[in-house]
Amino acid sequence: MAQEDVFKKIVAHCKEYGFVFPSSDIYDGLAAVYDYGQNGVELKNNIKQYWWQSMVLLHDNIVGIDSAIFMHPTIWKASGHVDAFNDPLIDNRDSKKRYRADVLIEDEIAKYDDKINKEVVKAAKRFKENFDEEKYRATSPRVLELQQKRDALHARYSAAMNAMDLNELRQIILDEEIVCPISGTKNWTEVRQFNLMFSTEMGSTADGAMKVYLRPETAQGIFVNYLNVQKTGRMKIPFGIAQIGKAFRNEIVARQFIFRMREFEQMEMQFFVRPGTEMEWFSKWKETRMKWHQALGFGADHYRFHDHEKLAHYANAATDVEFLMPFGFKEVEGIHSRTNFDLSQHEKFSGKSIKYFDPETNESYTPYVIETSIGVDRMFLSVMSAAYTEEQLENGETRVVLKLPAALAPVKLAVLPLVKKDGLPEKAREIVNDLKFHFNTIYDEKDSIGKRYRRQDAVGTPYCVTVDHDTLNDNCVTLRNRDTMQQERVAISELNAIIADRVNITSLLKKLQ
Ligand code: ATP
Repeated sequence: MAQEDVFKKIVAHCKEYGFVFPSSDIYDGLAAVYDYGQNGVELKNNIKQYWWQSMVLLHDNIVGIDSAIFMHPTIWKASGHVDAFNDPLIDNRDSKKRYRADVLIEDEIAKYDDKINKEVVKAAKRFKENFDEEKYRATSPRVLELQQKRDALHARYSAAMNAMDLNELRQIILDEEIVCPISGTKNWTEVRQFNLMFSTEMGSTADGAMKVYLRPETAQGIFVNYLNVQKTGRMKIPFGIAQIGKAFRNEIVARQFIFRMREFEQMEMQFFVRPGTEMEWFSKWKETRMKWHQALGFGADHYRFHDHEKLAHYANAATDVEFLMPFGFKEVEGIHSRTNFDLSQHEKFSGKSIKYFDPETNESYTPYVIETSIGVDRMFLSVMSAAYTEEQLENGETRVVLKLPAALAPVKLAVLPLVKKDGLPEKAREIVNDLKFHFNTIYDEKDSIGKRYRRQDAVGTPYCVTVDHDTLNDNCVTLRNRDTMQQERVAISELNAIIADRVNITSLLKKLQ
């Protein structure tokens, strides 16, 4: 199946099974805003819990906060967001569609990479076991020509982005003959800067109202509370502050479902370190975060790092954790070494000292910061993409199953009476009433047992328990495993011990030690 079709199926599945709905659905939706349904919210909460506990429970030097969405507007001046949080945008005059100029060029660079890879795959097929990929890449005239064009374009693009040279970005689009995917024409406008922050007014009278922003990242709430937390928590450097919360960006191109939203949620952790040690901590956090992702068990080949060449105004090193989505490797998390930029700026703009006195070195300094910043919604999409599976069964039917890591699954156990009579529903309810205190357990008696299994497969429930007539005598039930579809007979009294161990977040956290 083409990857595009897979993505469409995932989007449809999310809606059909109560994971994600378009916002304001009965009014035909609101662009790039989404709501999470009854299963989506559970999955999302589990992702957040996994992240939160891995930060706050597993590190005795990391604590959490929950800061407000509205903040003093000077914060965004100090952080650089008022002046520099811009995307270069360009319009196509024929289709009237708006694009990010940088994304158009990056897509063009990716096309060269695709062409090179296709050449390599073709040659590998031709030469079979004698194929030496490194040698082929270094000597094939076709590959060398493509590589040279790609590198030249990349160098030109990086220079233009670093200088934010808008005319040059437009010129690259014209020289590369990039066309609008909708109209197919090269009828482009000038490139303009577009600030991504939403603003509104706070206060009751028009005169006295103050322009405030909806935060475009949660990080600043951590920076401006850093000293409050350090003092009240008697934190010693190195230490971290974690936060989960909503962020808002007026994205120019808001496509690809929940990958790029205008209202989304971030999980950010700022780690405050002694100046000069930041690179060491940067690599440590890269490793720690990759381990967190890989513990979900989707396979190491689904992840890669992508180091930034163009660094944000505040960073001295940055990398993305990319995940193999149905539309290619895409950023899910950013890990940034933000220097002491933000704290120094807040010191300057607020006029208050926020230096840290280090009792070990007897010095006062402004700490350096390593940030790990992951989007809950992108993480959700990556989990959904990796979990969505269509299986061909022996009887010719197709089974749609969400192979979610059990600890993230919205429902952990479905208890199903074989028939709706003979005391089986009562027995099944008894089991639910006992287990619901330990994990999310549901009861379902509607439709045939086969249909009920399929329904649970489609929402990713790792276990189903069937209560049959024998249960009333032997107090045993059939336990069905979602992935293998294997069934085993187990005592009701053992269910909790068997299942809890596999479905609780603790099972994931243990892999991180
Ligand atoms: P992109 O380059 O894709 O716009 P970014 O580099 O601007 O992303 P960061 O500012 O590093 O993103 O934000 C950290 C994380 O927040 C991202 O890795 C992503 O998971 C998430 N995120 C950022 N923007 C959005 C958005 N519009 N919708 C959903 N998640 C987002």
